[in-house]
Amino acid sequence: MTQPPVPGRGAGAEPAPGAGLPGGAAGRRSDRDARLAAFAQGGPGDSRPPNSALAETLEELSGPGWRCDGATDDELIGLLGRWQALESWAAAGKLGVLRELIRRRARPGIRGQDIPAHGDLPDAWEEGLDHEISAALAISLPAADKLVGLAWDLQARLPGVGAKLADGTIDLLKARIIADELSVLDDEQAALAEKLILGELAGKTPGQVGRLAAQAECTVDPDGARKRRERAERDEARVRFWRDHGGAAALAGYGLPTDAALAAHASVNARAEEYKAAGAGPGATMDQLRVLAYLDLLNSVSAAARIARAAGAGAAQSGGDPETSQPPGPADSENPRYGGPGGPGDGGPRDGDGGGPHGGGPGDAAGGSVPALAARVNLTVPLATLLGLGDRPGAGHGLGPLDPDLARDLAATAAGSPHSQWCVTMTDSSGVTIAHGCARPARNRANTPPPRNRDGPWAFTPGDGPGPPGGYGTWVLTLPGGRELTVKLGPVPVTGCDHRHESHGYQPGDTLRHLVEVRDGECTFPTCSRHARGCDFEHAIPHDQGGRTCACNGGARSRKCHRVKQSRGWTVTQPRPGWHRWTTPAGRSYTQGPMQYQV
Ligand SMILES: [Zn+2]
Ligand SMILES: [Zn+2]
Ligand SMILES: [Zn+2]
Repeated sequence: MTQPPVPGRGAGAEPAPGAGLPGGAAGRRSDRDARLAAFAQGGPGDSRPPNSALAETLEELSGPGWRCDGATDDELIGLLGRWQALESWAAAGKLGVLRELIRRRARPGIRGQDIPAHGDLPDAWEEGLDHEISAALAISLPAADKLVGLAWDLQARLPGVGAKLADGTIDLLKARIIADELSVLDDEQAALAEKLILGELAGKTPGQVGRLAAQAECTVDPDGARKRRERAERDEARVRFWRDHGGAAALAGYGLPTDAALAAHASVNARAEEYKAAGAGPGATMDQLRVLAYLDLLNSVSAAARIARAAGAGAAQSGGDPETSQPPGPADSENPRYGGPGGPGDGGPRDGDGGGPHGGGPGDAAGGSVPALAARVNLTVPLATLLGLGDRPGAGHGLGPLDPDLARDLAATAAGSPHSQWCVTMTDSSGVTIAHGCARPARNRANTPPPRNRDGPWAFTPGDGPGPPGGYGTWVLTLPGGRELTVKLGPVPVTGCDHRHESHGYQPGDTLRHLVEVRDGECTFPTCSRHARGCDFEHAIPHDQGGRTCACNGGARSRKCHRVKQSRGWTVTQPRPGWHRWTTPAGRSYTQGPMQYQV
């Protein structure tokens, strides 16, 4: 939650010590608003139900900069509590409006049969509702799904909890915790459990509220805890990879079976102890050794290999031999292949979730058209960074920005793998793709020796002969170690389209599909972050209605967004190639432009 800014607040303006105590300076001010007294503990204002009149009063009493002139500390705490009650009231209003949308988006019954309902709320609604909410509130699709589900729950199954939210007794988080805890119960059991806890909720923290709800669940359904666990193993099973605060990566599993997870945790600890005993991480904390053990187990690095490698590194360190302080060769085989097709890096985050910020920083366009170099799987590095001409950050899908040194290291690692595929994407100053070429082994240099020096210089130089008409010429990309690749740069249609890769059938050709993936980057629904490689190529104007199979009519759509786009009331158009305009059943429209790569 963000705090509102407090203009003009400085150290010198703090209240004098003693303000607010009986007889304190603030309490005796003659110009203070008489309504403040009601907000002292036990006063009528302290428990006043949240509504628009309360909001108006609080705004007036809080005053400019929220300085709450004249209020005692006791009254200040009263105002704080009522602002919180207003938050809950506003949340209840938001959920109430969501319920009206649920009614309006009720899924039509099959052959005139009514779909089951709880009171006036239907039990099923159109899949596109999540998309409408996600785009309108700028939240992820899974978050929209949860919010819609909560809105339904708080009237259909747990109206008492809904009322406690509306009157400010609990906040949205606590309401969500209760709904989650009681979700495995049938309607009748849920009603019983709700009755058990409703009177106990005031003044409880979210953790305490969760325990109350879990106890009530056990009381009305002793098997509930087991059902809940089994459902979590089924519904929450996922491995997530993301960029954590500070730029390091995080990798976590959810919905794990408890026995196997306990065994895995014990294995990590045992391996870490082994490293400690063997001195494999001098100076490393146990947490650092556990991280090493965790990754080694996942990457199939044996304890013996790790310990031998650590011993080697130790010798090099103590020997101070400049020759051996180069990254050791065998390390390559232990590293994940960042650029390899289907390699360990090839796991994009799930649809609409988990994607960190991608590219898109409004970088300073000092270099004008800056070619960016992309390892095709998940790594984008500005060419200037590789060539040592600049220090601009790279990016990895789901990883967000990578600092220049890390980007160079990852690119060097990828260059050491024969499985890496390289593409060169030229962007304009805002990071939008304008030209692209896929690197292929240079034909006349088929016998280039394998790379020896991972830290050797990169090069990107004009190739022999002129480029194709309308193209951007042929270039040679030299990887560290001397391997040379040929790159034919051609335009990517983002403003106009000469239909050069149009296919006359329904299916796009490989080049067209790839160019659209590079241009769009991700699913073209604005709040969906499914990587374009995992998306369908979809026609904005359907092929059977005359839509071209071309970059100017094609876009990346995740399977889910593709289904929604084809459902009742939705349309997608491309006002310009690469600009996808989605119109919802409510008539609102949202436009997603081309991918903005880091520049
Ligand atoms: Zn390519
Ligand atoms: Zn076209
Ligand atoms: Zn999507």
